[in-house]
Amino acid sequence: MSTTPEKLAFRCAGCAGINRVDPARLADGPKCGRCQGALDTSGAPIDLDDAGLARLVASSPVPVLVDLWATWCGPCRIVAPIVDQVARAHAGRLITVKIDTDRHRATLDALGARGIPTFALYRGGALLSQRSGALPRPELEAWVQTALG
Ligand SMILES: [Zn+2]
Repeated sequence: MSTTPEKLAFRCAGCAGINRVDPARLADGPKCGRCQGALDTSGAPIDLDDAGLARLVASSPVPVLVDLWATWCGPCRIVAPIVDQVARAHAGRLITVKIDTDRHRATLDALGARGIPTFALYRGGALLSQRSGALPRPELEAWVQTALG
C-alpha cells in the first residue's frame, strides 16, 4: 500500500488553472500556483459556459460533474441543493459545474439531451455517462461514485 497522500484538485476562479493540493495543506488557505489567487476549496459548483467546460474537462485530473439547468426549470431548482451537497462532499475529488442552458446550449445539444436537468460525468477528458431528470441524493451519489471509483 502506498502512503503517498492523494492530492486534491481545485479550479482557480481567477485564472481557471487546475491546482493540486495536498489534503494536509487545505487548512492553510491554499493559493493558486499560477495567479496566486485564493483557491475556493469548498467544492461548491462553479458556473461555466460551454467553452469553459470543454477546457476544464480536457485538463481536469479528477472527474467533472455537470448540471445543465435553467432558472425557469422547477426540477432543476429542486435538485440544485442536492447537487450542491454532493459537490461539497467530494471537494477536491470531483469538480462540479453548472451550465445555464438558456445562455449556453452547446453542451446540452452535444449530449443530445431534450430535457433539463441533464447531468453529465466526464473523466479523463471524455464523457463517461449522462442522465436526465431530477434525482434523489442517494441516487446522484451512487452515480457520481461510478466516476470516482
Ligand atoms: Zn489562478
